[in-house]
Order: sequence, then structure tokens, then C-alpha cells
Amino acid sequence: MSTAKLVQGYEVVIGFETHAQLSTQSKIFSRAPTAFGAEPNTQACAVDLGLPGTLPVMNKGAVERAIQFGLAIGSHIAPRSIFARKNYFYPDLPKGYQISQFEIPVVQGGQVEFFLGDEKKTVRLVRAHLEEDAGKSLHEDFIGQSGIDLNRAGTPLLEIVTEPDMRSSEEAVAYAKELHKIVTWIGICDGNMQEGSFRCDANVSVRKPGGELGTRREIKNLNSFKFMQQAIDYEVRWQIDQIEDGHAIQQATVLFDPDTGETRSMRTKEDAADYRYFPDPDLPPLVIAPEWVERVRAEMTELPRVMAERFVRDYGLPEYDATTLTQSKAMAAYFEAAVALCKQPKLVSNWVMGEVSRRLNADEIGMDQVPVSAARLAALITRIHDSTISNNAAKEVFDALWNATGAQIADTGALSVVDDLIESKGLKQMNDSGELEKIIDEVLAANAKNVEEFKAGNTKALNGLVGPIMKASKGKANPAQVNELLKKKLGA
Ligand code: ADP
Ligand code: MG
Repeated sequence: MSTAKLVQGYEVVIGFETHAQLSTQSKIFSRAPTAFGAEPNTQACAVDLGLPGTLPVMNKGAVERAIQFGLAIGSHIAPRSIFARKNYFYPDLPKGYQISQFEIPVVQGGQVEFFLGDEKKTVRLVRAHLEEDAGKSLHEDFIGQSGIDLNRAGTPLLEIVTEPDMRSSEEAVAYAKELHKIVTWIGICDGNMQEGSFRCDANVSVRKPGGELGTRREIKNLNSFKFMQQAIDYEVRWQIDQIEDGHAIQQATVLFDPDTGETRSMRTKEDAADYRYFPDPDLPPLVIAPEWVERVRAEMTELPRVMAERFVRDYGLPEYDATTLTQSKAMAAYFEAAVALCKQPKLVSNWVMGEVSRRLNADEIGMDQVPVSAARLAALITRIHDSTISNNAAKEVFDALWNATGAQIADTGALSVVDDLIESKGLKQMNDSGELEKIIDEVLAANAKNVEEFKAGNTKALNGLVGPIMKASKGKANPAQVNELLKKKLGA
């Protein structure tokens, strides 16, 4: 691991526990639906509530997703794992226990790799286990009452636990983003953080470099990357202040309050023993045959990190571009489709990371709704590359393409769509040097002072000439060509 960044002389140590809601249609042990946003208490069945006489039945789709995750991050898939009851009392858990995995989890080990700036980081995973979600308490402050919604009870979760490998809030957020990318990329989780499909608990401690691990406090349920960073930064400062004031840190579970920007203790931390874990007598061991693992492996999609490495290798893109373009599967596919047509990887990369992303953000839409097809972007880039239009003029064409209706479908003939726009907007670059030379001669005659200054050695005087030339050509002159011709004429 690399040298740690210190905060006031302390080293920060962070480990994550993340709950990823698995994208199955039905619950982990019942056939009740998992859809978000239903009327309270309409989606929990007798099994989810653990009513007497019911029996849980394992959802194969949830297991399959756990296997996919394990393969994606190079874990060992346990051939036999065990479900346990985690017993605790809480209003949103009427049956008094949560079914989880304790001693033998389905996914063991593995690692998540990502870049923090230029530095490659590796965070080791301890495990990932299957478990059911609990219900939810709703605090209706305006009527001064609380209610319980049990719709979420029995929703399948994969709890993903890291080693305490992270050394800064920035690294922790980068890890969480990478993990989010992996689970959404392989399609096991929709990643919707507002709806609670991806929630992180950050375990934070500080220590003097080289010392023993400090006592940790666990910040619960961070469901935005922004709050994650704020919460950890606050927590680190708080812990250092406590220690500097001579207080010991008590192990605790805390909540982050976005309104005050502070973390506040919820309860002192319970130990595993408090939960009286024992194997669930209603569920047999989860047995995963090697053939099942191999079948899942054969169907796995190329992972973002692997794809990014291929982009660097095959397209000669900088690491930054490759990482950015593989933020989502849809963006990567769009990039590759455009490159296949125009064979200009760097130009396509610039446009996808630049104009395309800018417009998507401005319109608040995702790649799945991009109104300029990859074919049309490729056609536009073809015309930039063959000098038909300048990069600036291309932006005008791009805006027109973006605002055109029915753009998605008309992939064939993309080049003629682009050519027609260039024509009708009169954006064709002036590539005929005769016409351009005429303009240059006129501008030189009208700006004798600049010419003199340039000849006297003031190279900056050239700029005073380029402007009027571009203007006289109505922006259609090719700036590189202008420069070249100018220098020739001025004998430079
Ligand atoms: P528990 O089961 O009580 O939550 P674990 O030992 O499983 O405790 O650890 C939970 C998480 O806390 C893991 O992600 C682990 O890496 C992290 N962790 C453990 N010790 C520390 C520490 N001293 N500082 C920061 N994180 C820690
Ligand atoms: Mg824990």
C-alpha cells in the first residue's frame, strides 16, 4: 500500500460495509414483489413476516447474483454456505430475527481495484453475504407519529465487507464509486442510492502512523457520495479532537446529519455475541455446484476495469479517458460504436467526454436517451477529421443534431444528415487557398502597422492579423492554414 496522507499527524483507517439490493423481481425467501414505492404494507407476505407455519425458500436469482459479484471481483465462491438467524429487537423487524449469513458466507475474499488520481488502489474484501432486509420506520414529524412499512422486509441484499484498507475519505469515496459501478455494470443491483438500493456504512478510526488500529466508529447508511465524503471528514476531525483532548474513542454506531454536517452517536456498538447467531433451522445449507459457477462465469460481461485497460491498449487512449468512458456500460458502448464507424478514438473520446456529456447533464438525461446516435456523432467527427468543418462549426452542427427529432432511428445516412446541415448552415471550412489568400492579402494591406511590428520581431503582432482574417472569412477559414499562409507571406 502507498504512503498515507496524514491528517494533523494521524493516519485515517476506513473499512466499508455496503448493502447492495439485488435486482430480483421477488423477495429472497418468498414470492412477494420487491418493487419500490408501493403503498405501505402491501408487499410483505406471511413468509417475510416470519409468521408461524411459513417456510422460507431460497430465491435462486439472488444466489446467482451473488455468484456474479464474486466472480467479478475474483472471490472464492463457497461451495456450501450457511444461513443464520441474527436476533435483535426492533420495531421494523416483527419476527425478531434477520436471516443472514454469519460463519460461512457465500462470497469470500476478492478485491476491488480503482484509480485515485494517477495512483492505482486495491481494497481487499473480506466477504459478501446474502441476507434479507428489514422493514422501515417512517417518522411523520408533522403528525408526531411513527409508522412501520414492512414492504422492504425480505428484500434480498448482498452485504459487501472490506478489510480496513482505505486511508482517506477520498479513497473511500473512490472505492464506493467503483463498487457502485461494478454492481450496476454486471446488473445485479440498480444502484439507485435515493431509493436505498446501495447504502454504505463507513467504519472510521485514526491512529498515529505505524501504531495499533484505533477504535472505530461506524457511520451508518450513507446514501450519497457527497454525504459520504462530508461524514468521514467530519468524523476524522471529531476523533482527532477527542484524542487530542485526552478522551478515548468509544466504539459506537453513528448517524450523519446532512443538515448540521455532523455525526452523532446512535447507540454503543453491539458485539456479534449480542445477536445470538445460530444456523436457521428452516433453511438447508446453500450448495453451489462448480458447474453453476462455470455457467455464470461463461456468461459474464467484460468488466469496466478490463474494458478500460483494453481502451488504453487498443485505442491508445490516456488512462483518464478510458476510465471516464467506462463509467457506464451505455457510454462505453456508444464510444465504441462511434469509433468503429469513424476510426478516430481520441476525437470520439473528446466529444463523448465533452459536448455529449455536457448536454446529457444539462438536459438531465442518461446515455440511454442520447438524441444524437453514435452513427451521427461518427459522421460529424469524420467531417472534422477531413477538414470539411472546424471544431467550432462542428459544435453548431452537433447542437442541431441534438435538437433534431427522430435522430435515434435514422442511423443509415448519418453522413448525409450531417452534410446537409453543414451545407444549409454554410459552415463549410474554406479549404481553397486561393480564396483565403485573397482575404489575407486584403487584411495585410489594411493592417500595415501589425505587419511592420511583426517584421521588427514582435511575434505577438501575428495574433492581431489572425483575428481579422477569421472574421473576414466568417469563421470558415481553417486556423492552421491561416497561420501557415500568413507566415509564408510575411517571410517568417
Ligand atoms: P462487525 O462485524 O462488528 O461490524 P467487523 O470486524 O466485521 O465488525 O468489521 C466491520 C468493518 O469494520 C469492516 O469493513 C472492517 O474492515 C472495518 N474495521 C474493523 N476494524 C476497523 C478499525 N479499527 N478502523 C476502521 N475500520 C475497521
Ligand atoms: Mg458489521
